[in-house]
Formats: sequence, structure tokens, C-alpha cells
Amino acid sequence: MAQETIFSKIIRKEIPSDIVFQDDKVTAFRDISPQAPTHILIIPNKLIPTVNDVQEEDEIVLGHMMIVAAKIAKQEGIDKSGYRLIVNCNEDAGQEVFHIHMHLLGGKKLGRLIG
Ligand code: C5P
Repeated sequence: MAQETIFSKIIRKEIPSDIVFQDDKVTAFRDISPQAPTHILIIPNKLIPTVNDVQEEDEIVLGHMMIVAAKIAKQEGIDKSGYRLIVNCNEDAGQEVFHIHMHLLGGKKLGRLIG
């Protein structure tokens, strides 16, 4: 059984956070330490620690995370200018919270990571 993180408390609203979207599958809230004018984390309500732990049955919720990301980007007014989605996995990628989360970053010109 995976260990709960602070994100489970955010989903259950046991600690304060700036939730911008929530439904039966996912929760999205503003990152506490924003790295861009828009920095939102989109997480599955189900605890999945890392991308390595993803199961076939998670396909719908993971796809839904991207659909929600696009909706939030539009709400934030950054859909046309552009944004970046990032999912870190384990130590080398700098994953700090072991509850899968998709970073949605935008609102400024982002430096290139690759290419
Ligand atoms: O991908 P990584 O695990 O490094 O990202 C964790 C993110 O969770 C960080 O950007 C951090 O600021 C954010 N965080 C948060 N609220 C918390 C704890 C962490 O927004 N209570």
C-alpha cells in the first residue's frame, strides 16, 4: 500500500490550498512555490506514487488529467500563448512528492528544456 502524501490531504481539503478544479477523478491546485505566473498541479484523486506505478486501469484518469490541463490553460488565458506540462519521475527528475502530478506552467516565455 503506497504511503499517502500531503496531496491526499489537499484532495480531501484537510489543509488549505488554492484548488482551481476538482471532479471525481482529479484535483488541480496552484503550486505553493510557483515557477511561472501560472503554475498549477493536476493530480489524480487516486494515489499513484510515480509514473512507474501506473496500471492499465489508470488510462482513463491519466487521459483526463490532460483534458483538464487544456481546460485550465484556457481558463487561465494561456492556451494561445502556450504552456508546458511536466511529470517528474523519481530522483533524477527531481520528484519530491510521491503522488503523480502534472505541472502546468505558463504565462511567460519558458526556456527550452530539450532541443
Ligand atoms: O515534481 P515535484 O515532485 O518536484 O513537484 C512537487 C511540487 O509540489 C513542487 O513544485 C512544490 O512546490 C509543490 N507543492 C505544493 N504544495 C505542497 C507541497 C509541494 O504545491 N504542500
